[in-house]
Amino acid sequence: MAMKINSSSIEQLLREDDPLVIRKLYEQADAVRAANVGNDVHLRALLEMSNVCRRQCTYCGIAAYNAHLTRYRMSEEEIIASAHHAAQLGFHTLVLQSGEDTFYSTSMIIRIVRTIKEQTGLAITLSLGERTPEELAEWKEAGANRYLLRFETSDINLFQRIHPPAGFSSYEDYCAQLSPEDACMAHTFTTEVPRMSLLRTLRELDYEVGSGVMVGIPGQTYATLARDICTFQQLDLDMIGVGPYIPHPDTPLGKQMLAAQTSQTAKTTQAQDATSADEAPNSFTCAGVNQVPNTADMTLKVIALTRLVCPKSNIPATTALGVLGEEASRIQAFECGANVIMPNVTPLAYRSLYSIYEGKDTVSETEDMLAALTQQIINAGRTVGTTEGKSRAFAARHKE
Ligand code: SAH
Repeated sequence: MAMKINSSSIEQLLREDDPLVIRKLYEQADAVRAANVGNDVHLRALLEMSNVCRRQCTYCGIAAYNAHLTRYRMSEEEIIASAHHAAQLGFHTLVLQSGEDTFYSTSMIIRIVRTIKEQTGLAITLSLGERTPEELAEWKEAGANRYLLRFETSDINLFQRIHPPAGFSSYEDYCAQLSPEDACMAHTFTTEVPRMSLLRTLRELDYEVGSGVMVGIPGQTYATLARDICTFQQLDLDMIGVGPYIPHPDTPLGKQMLAAQTSQTAKTTQAQDATSADEAPNSFTCAGVNQVPNTADMTLKVIALTRLVCPKSNIPATTALGVLGEEASRIQAFECGANVIMPNVTPLAYRSLYSIYEGKDTVSETEDMLAALTQQIINAGRTVGTTEGKSRAFAARHKE
């Protein structure tokens, strides 16, 4: 049974800074995790198969506008070879992730999915951005098991600011080319983040559905984040990924945040010189005092609260958490409700180019990473999953 906590009690816990209350929250989440999804940590091999993207999301380093980035696309042969490598390493799931790159046509993805399933038996998760319902149906038919599509935020205004419609660099540009009537309709009737309808389609197609949000995007308030967590429950998600927003210097949002942090630090230093600093450095406050910080600690809280409201879902300790809070935070996530991790199996030549944010480990060979991680999982008193690690939420839904 999911815990009956509502959005205002979630918001209160998000704002909580008493370490004892936070520790209790983590312990509760850990107990709910153990009771509902057991002790296994499931490993998913993450293959970042292309960094080409047609979208212009203002947070993401691989967005189309980033001219500083060398672009790559893995060939079908390279993707299949990586799948074999993942299977040899003992993975049971392969996640194929990319920018929104329509070079990979419907039929190419069908071929890739079929070949990997036939030759390796791996469960396949796709994370290829917003594709058409028809394509999603054909890929399911070809054997894909899961689809990951984070809705990023449930606040429509914030979503429009950070995630312009396909073909546009801002929501304003999109509205500017509409007729005045259509623009008016768009403003009046667009209340839901567009990715929600694709998430419903994925559910209807019987995928295991994964989604999630970034924590601490400029403009994200505690109330919004609390609603995001309630939305996870409403969508009855099979997988929920939450990671801290990491400002990327080659993106509009990242530039803005980094500049604000620099000027804040300068101000604080001046104030400290004048001996009266009561403002924390590093507080980018686009939403004023209601701005959620993009910290590892806040992300751990979100993971714990997510586990309480979605006891049977798979919840990963995300890469972004490991980057921002260092590896220790990623491992700590396993004590706060997480039960999945997605080690990167992208060939080293490409890995640094999939720079949605900076600071990812782009040098460790997968074998070495995996050995260290397995040891950490065991040290944390957990076991490494030996099955495909299907979501218990999915299994429960299918019994009904
Ligand atoms: N094109 C696919 C995959 C994107 S990468 C899609 O849009 O679904 C996967 C996730 O990385 C995104 O959904 C987003 O939540 C996260 N991400 C992107 N840029 C980020 C950043 N700067 N900091 C933290 N997370 C980021």
